[in-house]
Amino acid sequence: MSRPVTIVTGGSRGIGAATCVRLAGDGHDVVLGYVSNGAAAELVADAVRAAGARCVAVRADTSDEADVERLFDTAVTELGPVTGLVNNAGVTGPLGRFADVRTEDLRRVVDVNLMGYLLCCRRAAQDMTALGTGSIVNVSSAAATLGSPGEYVHYAATKAATDALTVGLAKELGPAGIRVNGVAPGVIETEMHATMGDPDRPAKAAPEIPLRRPGQPSEIAAAVAWLLSPDASYTTGTVLRVSGGR
Ligand code: NAP
Repeated sequence: MSRPVTIVTGGSRGIGAATCVRLAGDGHDVVLGYVSNGAAAELVADAVRAAGARCVAVRADTSDEADVERLFDTAVTELGPVTGLVNNAGVTGPLGRFADVRTEDLRRVVDVNLMGYLLCCRRAAQDMTALGTGSIVNVSSAAATLGSPGEYVHYAATKAATDALTVGLAKELGPAGIRVNGVAPGVIETEMHATMGDPDRPAKAAPEIPLRRPGQPSEIAAAVAWLLSPDASYTTGTVLRVSGGR
């Protein structure tokens, strides 16, 4: 059997990086997408190759249609037909009340978290339908159901939209042999919290989490890997919450 070829967007850091390394260990060849941090992307690509997988790192802004097309074209040219997609690249903008969010931050969050996922899913749907097989995992957030008041309601809204995308696309693509699922992480220790303005946010959140700690990127990667694996062959249209009980 040939190895699965899986695209992971936002593979250079955090959850995406852990997912790339985990998938390599599980026998996937990996196409690692990133937007600006080429050095981080190359470090992850090296770790993927050290695990015995083929890997190509591609700079591609997922909110840009031409970049998404180039990401998939490069994957096919360099590694072969794409059988897996992990839609993971996401942004929040600064933490704060909704009334204070700048229009440019609203647009960026919608462009990356929603348009980016839509553009990647559309291309994956085209390629995988032609192939007659495939699996998509959309990285959502527990925010989709919590709403995240006072922090980033607009981000939560894009994640709820992601879950609707997962459910609808699973029904549309199921007859073509393509599975579509989501993973909804709770608070996970990545650089995303510093980027949104509070590096200590995971530690501060711990008392509110039933398991009393933030999660690790590898714990999300494990859920993504299971959903992509043959063990999840009858699982589609579901959003797996991995949030320490929150
Ligand atoms: P992170 O550590 O901030 O990493 C973000 C990744 O996305 C980086 O690889 C970054 O690339 C990439 N990226 C950002 N904008 C992009 C764009 N326009 N095009 C392509 N790549 C882009 O984030 P994370 O915490 O791992 O989050 C990953 C996913 O999990 C997101 O969808 C996020 O919403 C979700 N999530 C995270 C948490 C959490 O607590 N961390 C909780 C729930 C859900 P560069 O390295 O090039 O900048």
